[in-house]
Amino acid sequence: MRKTLLALAVALVLPIAGWAKKPKKITLSKDAFISDLMSRMTIEEKIGQLNLLDAGQLNTGVGQKGVEDQALLNGEVGGFLSLMGVDRIREVQQYAVEKSRLGIPLLFGLDVIHGYHTIFPIPLALSCTWDMEMIERAARVAAIEATADGIPWVYSPMVDISRDARWGRIAESAGEDPFLGSAIARAMVMGYQGDKRQGGRYATDEVMACVKHFALYGAAEAGLDYNVTDMSRVRMYNDYLAPYRAAVEAGVGSVMSSFNTIDYEPATSSCWLLTDLLREQWNFKGFVVTDYGSIGEMRAWGCGDLQECSVRALSAGTDFDMCSRGFVGTLKKSLDEGRVTENQIDIACRRMLEAKWDLGLFEDPYRYCQYTSKTQKSLLYTDESRALARKIAAESFVLLKNDNNLLPLKKKGKIALVGPMAHAPNNMRGCWAPTANTNPNPFSTLLESLRRAVGEQAEVKYAKGSNIHADAQIEANWEVFGTDIRDPRSEAELLGEALETVADADVIVAAIGESQEMTGESTSRADIGLPETQMRLLQAMKATGKPVVVVYFAGRPMVMKWEKENIPAILNVWFGGSEGGDAICDVLFGDASPSGKLTTSFPQATGQEPFYYNHMVTGRPITKWFSKYATNYTDIDGSAVFPFGYGLTYTTFSYGTLSLSSDKLTQGGKIQARVTVTNTGQREGDEIVQMYIHDTAASIARPIMELKGFERIHLAAGESKTVTFDIDEELLKFYNVELRHVAEPGEFTVMVGPHSQDVQSKTFVLE
Ligand code: BGC
Repeated sequence: MRKTLLALAVALVLPIAGWAKKPKKITLSKDAFISDLMSRMTIEEKIGQLNLLDAGQLNTGVGQKGVEDQALLNGEVGGFLSLMGVDRIREVQQYAVEKSRLGIPLLFGLDVIHGYHTIFPIPLALSCTWDMEMIERAARVAAIEATADGIPWVYSPMVDISRDARWGRIAESAGEDPFLGSAIARAMVMGYQGDKRQGGRYATDEVMACVKHFALYGAAEAGLDYNVTDMSRVRMYNDYLAPYRAAVEAGVGSVMSSFNTIDYEPATSSCWLLTDLLREQWNFKGFVVTDYGSIGEMRAWGCGDLQECSVRALSAGTDFDMCSRGFVGTLKKSLDEGRVTENQIDIACRRMLEAKWDLGLFEDPYRYCQYTSKTQKSLLYTDESRALARKIAAESFVLLKNDNNLLPLKKKGKIALVGPMAHAPNNMRGCWAPTANTNPNPFSTLLESLRRAVGEQAEVKYAKGSNIHADAQIEANWEVFGTDIRDPRSEAELLGEALETVADADVIVAAIGESQEMTGESTSRADIGLPETQMRLLQAMKATGKPVVVVYFAGRPMVMKWEKENIPAILNVWFGGSEGGDAICDVLFGDASPSGKLTTSFPQATGQEPFYYNHMVTGRPITKWFSKYATNYTDIDGSAVFPFGYGLTYTTFSYGTLSLSSDKLTQGGKIQARVTVTNTGQREGDEIVQMYIHDTAASIARPIMELKGFERIHLAAGESKTVTFDIDEELLKFYNVELRHVAEPGEFTVMVGPHSQDVQSKTFVLE
C-alpha cells in the first residue's frame, strides 16, 4: 500500500514527459466499446490481435521500416513478449497507438517467475515455506516492480504438479502435492492481480497473471522435457487439475496451454481441454495463449501444415498465438476456404480486446509506462523488498540434517568455505530470472555474504575445490546460457588447493550442488545425484575429520543418500534469489531459524522416479523390506531419504496425542482433528503441522495418504499451541470412475504430524 501511494505521488509530482498523452475518457460500456471497435476492424486487424511476437522479432529501431514495423502499422500484432525496459516499451506502444489505423494498444508480457529486480527464491523453494501470506507478498512485489517497468502481463504462476525430479522444470513448480499446489496457485494469483480478483479493472501496480502450463506438463514421460504425457482422466482430475482450477477460481486473467499432448492430442488443439473443461466446466472468462511456438510444433505431432494446425488450435479455444505466426499467416486463407468462421475469429479477438480493456489500455495505452527508467528507481529493488526476499529465502531453506546441533555456527575461529557454488555470482538467482539482468546491482555470492556476516569476528578462507562437473562437455551443455565460470585447473589441483585451505579450519562449509543451468526448462537429468567431481570433493572434506556443513544448491530433489549417511549438517538452499547469500548466512549463524519443509520427496536412487508420497495403494503393499512378491525393489528399501513435509529447525517440537471431536461425520456435518504442539527446545521456532487423510474404503483405489490441511505456527521456547483442522464432506471428495466429485460413506484415516512419514492416526466414519 505504501508503495502504491509512493508510486502515485511520484507520478503526480513528476513533470509529464512529451510522450504521455492524456488518458481518454471512455463513456461506452466495455461491451459497447469493444463491439464498436470490432465493427470498424478489418478481418486482418482482428486476426492481428491474435498474434503475439517475441521482442527478438521486433526490428531494433521501431520507425526504421523493419518487417514488424510494417506489421505494427497494419495492426497485425496483438502484443510482444520479452520486451524489457519501460522506455522501450513506451516507444513501441506509442508507435502502435499513433501509427496504426485504429491505434489499438499492444499487450506486453514477460516471464516474471520469481521476482523482477528483487529476485525471490525459485518457486520450488517458495513452496517449501508453506507460507501463503509470504508467497502472496512476493508476487505482490513482483507485480509492483514489473508494472513500474512497463509490464502488465506475467507468465506465472506455473502450477504443474511435478512428481519426477528428473524433469528440470520441477524447479519452477510447487512440488508434488495438489492440495498445497492449489493453495499456492491462489496466493500467487492474488499477489499478482491484487484487487482485480474481485472483478473490475486492474490497478496500475497489478499485473494480469497467466497460469501455466495447461495442462499436465509436469507429467512428461520419464521426466524428459517436452515428452508426451498420458494418464487416465481419473488421475488427471484427482491429482493434476486442481491447481489450475484454483488459479481460475481465483480469477486468473489468462491461461497458457502446454507443449504436451493430452489423450494423444496437443493441448493447444484440445477442444476438450480448452473449451469443455476450462470454459464450460470451470467457467473461465479470460484468454488462452499458447506456449512458445506451440501451434508450429503441432506439425511435428503430425497435425498437418501450419494452416491446418492453426485451424485446429483456434477451433479448440486458443486465442493468442505465441510466436508461431500461424494465426496471422493463415487464418484469413482458412476463412476464405470455409475452414474457420468469422465468428470464431471474433470470439478470440473479443477476448483479447477485453483483456486490454481490463488492463485499462484503451483509456491509457501508457498506463503501465507511468515511470521512466529514471523515475522508476524508487520502486525497484528497494530496501523493503530486499528485506522481504531475504526473509522468505531463509524460510524456504530446508534443514535436512543437524547432528549434535552443529548449526548454527558461531562467528569465530576459522571457517573454510569450499565448493563450486561458494563464489558463483551467477548461481544465486535461480533458473528463471531474466529480469535480473536488467538489475544493475550485483547479487552477493555466498563467499561475499559470509565475509560480510562475520566481519572481523572470524576468518573466512575459500577454495573452489572442484568444477560443477568433471566433464567439460557436459558442463558446457549446461552453460548454454553461459553463466558459470569453469576453472581451467585439473581436478587434482583444485582438490589439492581445497585440502590446503581447510587444513587449519575449525569448520568446513561445502557449497555444492547443481548450477542454475542444470535446472529449469530443457534440463532433464538421467542421474539426479551430485556430480561425481563434487562428490569426490565432499568425500575428501569428510576424510579430514573436521565438521562439515553442506550448503546444497539445487533446483530439484536430489539423491542425497551418501550425504545423509556421512555429513553431519545439511542445509538445502535451492536457489535463494537476489538475497540468497545473506539469507544463507542468516541461517548458518542462527540470526534466522530454518523452517522450510520439503514439498517433494527425496529419493534414494534416480530409479525410484517418479517418486512422490501420495502414491496409490497397491494390492501388494510392502510391510517389511525385502518381501518377495510385494511392491518393493530388491536393491533399496524404497523409502525416501528425506520425505515430503520434512524439515528441521534449531529447536524441537513434541506432538501431544491426536484427538478427533467425533469418530462419526454426518453428511453436511463437520468434525475436528486436534493436536497440541509444544516447543521443547531452547529457542523460538516455526513448525508446519500437517494433516493427511486416507480413504480406506472407496469405489476406486485411492492414494495411500493425501495432504488435507496444514498450519504454520510460531512457538516461543516452552510454548504450546493447539492446532485444529476441520474435516467436512467436501474435504473427503474425490473424482470417481464416472468423474463425479463424491465423498463416499465409510471409514477414513486421519494422520497428523510434522511430516508425511511421522504421523499419528485416528479413524472416523463418514455416515
Ligand atoms: C516456456 C514458458 C514461457 C514461454 C515464454 C516457453 O518456452 O515453456 O513457460 O512462459 O516460453 O517465454
